[in-house]
Amino acid sequence: MKYVSSRNKNEIVESHNAIIQGLAKDGGLFTPENINIHINVDELTNLSYQQIATKVIHAFLDDFTEEEISSSVNQAYDNKFDTEEIVPLHKIEDAYLMELYHGPTSAFKDIALTLLPHLLIQSYNKENRHDTISILTATSGDTGKAALSGFADVKHTAITVFYPEVGVSQVQKKQMQTATGDNVEVIAVKGNFDDCQRMVKEATQDPQVLASLHNATISSANSINVGRLIPQVVYYYSSYCKLVKDGAIQCGDPVNFVVPTGNFGDILAGYLAYRTGLPVNQLICASNSNNVLTDFLNTGTYSIHRPFIPTMSPSMDILISSNLERLLFIMSDNDDSFVANMMKELNEQGSYTIPSKIQEKISSIFKGYWTSEEDCAKTIHDLYKKEHVLIDPHTAVGLHAYRQYQTQTKDTTPAIVLSTASPYKFCKDVYQAVSSNCIEDDFEAMDALHTYTQTAIPSNLACLKDLPVRFTRSIEKEDGMKVIAERMKEISNDYN
Ligand SMILES: *Cc1c(COP(=O)(O)O)cnc(C)c1O
Repeated sequence: MKYVSSRNKNEIVESHNAIIQGLAKDGGLFTPENINIHINVDELTNLSYQQIATKVIHAFLDDFTEEEISSSVNQAYDNKFDTEEIVPLHKIEDAYLMELYHGPTSAFKDIALTLLPHLLIQSYNKENRHDTISILTATSGDTGKAALSGFADVKHTAITVFYPEVGVSQVQKKQMQTATGDNVEVIAVKGNFDDCQRMVKEATQDPQVLASLHNATISSANSINVGRLIPQVVYYYSSYCKLVKDGAIQCGDPVNFVVPTGNFGDILAGYLAYRTGLPVNQLICASNSNNVLTDFLNTGTYSIHRPFIPTMSPSMDILISSNLERLLFIMSDNDDSFVANMMKELNEQGSYTIPSKIQEKISSIFKGYWTSEEDCAKTIHDLYKKEHVLIDPHTAVGLHAYRQYQTQTKDTTPAIVLSTASPYKFCKDVYQAVSSNCIEDDFEAMDALHTYTQTAIPSNLACLKDLPVRFTRSIEKEDGMKVIAERMKEISNDYN
């Protein structure tokens, strides 16, 4: 399978090149040139998560050997996860929760970011390189820590994380500020996630930044990197297989997936699963009050002329969903100039409208719903009171979106809701939702939530309060290129 830039399909690379580069040189996103592979789901049903991962990932990254993928997979999905299943499925009354938060930082980003460093090092060796890979990462809260954890002290790499100073939860902030490793740097930005993401994307084309690179290459750990996207296809397959194995469905029966969505990476991975043969009926795209995707799916117009609203599901507080660009490329049958034009309009006018033919194609499989803060809290509260199941605000956004979908359509297809973070990453809001008591400090709320619900605090979060803070630097977003250029110089000196 070859990968091409969504803005220039003549830029064709193999997956290992795409993994090292992150973003294409023209600012486009590497996307499969054509999705002409078929994965036989009935051959996967009795396999372990690691075995399914090897088969699915190898189908997409076929310039690696199966042994290479399998070795990476086995190093990533080991006892760093607190369950052997890696991604368990939990039945609630009206759906299944796909628990994606059992990794080292308690967020679904761990699934891809425990694997990416291994894929990157293998790619590095394939290309016979001797430079330093400088990984620039923007985070709305969860990617940062998962990437820091995955890349800490990984040879030939240096990682720099930018997070919005206001917006991430106290737990998320502390997770990043206490990161370990000699090759890491964490910087707060006076701005929101979109500002961080813009900085990281701009840096790959900024003359000042490029001039400061010596024997170093910029790459990305964001979901713009193919190496982030493809590992996320796996759990759609593995969860489906669990339902078959449990007798809840027969192999071949369709299911719905409900995906709390920010940058559109997770749900796009679901679409790739569908396109490679997984029986999917609908992909339900759940947003919080930053409901730009809901409007896009309903109208065909993508517009960021709206306020940015900080919510209790901060990892979805995003107005510019990068991976949507990949969907436009695929749905327009690889029309790179169309995609380039839409992205130019978004950049210059803050909005674009796609032709109705493409919109219809998209909305035949993607359905958009959004959840208010009030409904989000109520969903957490009601599920806990009724079934004693504790979910985080992102998952609650998904579950409520699913219930709206079901009320509207009466669709009885079994539904799997992606549960993307541990409730203990958002203690203040989750504790308030279940108990109606407000504790401002996240760490006090963590203990209170534990006492109140008698659920276990993930060990990586339980010890967080007492860890020493290493990173407190904060910058103006206007200084982004200058700061990145300085960091690139430092990396060039330190590591070469
Ligand atoms: C990143 C994240 C999301 C959104 O995923 P995208 O791939 O950006 O759409 C949802 N929930 C949580 C907890 C996240 O960390």
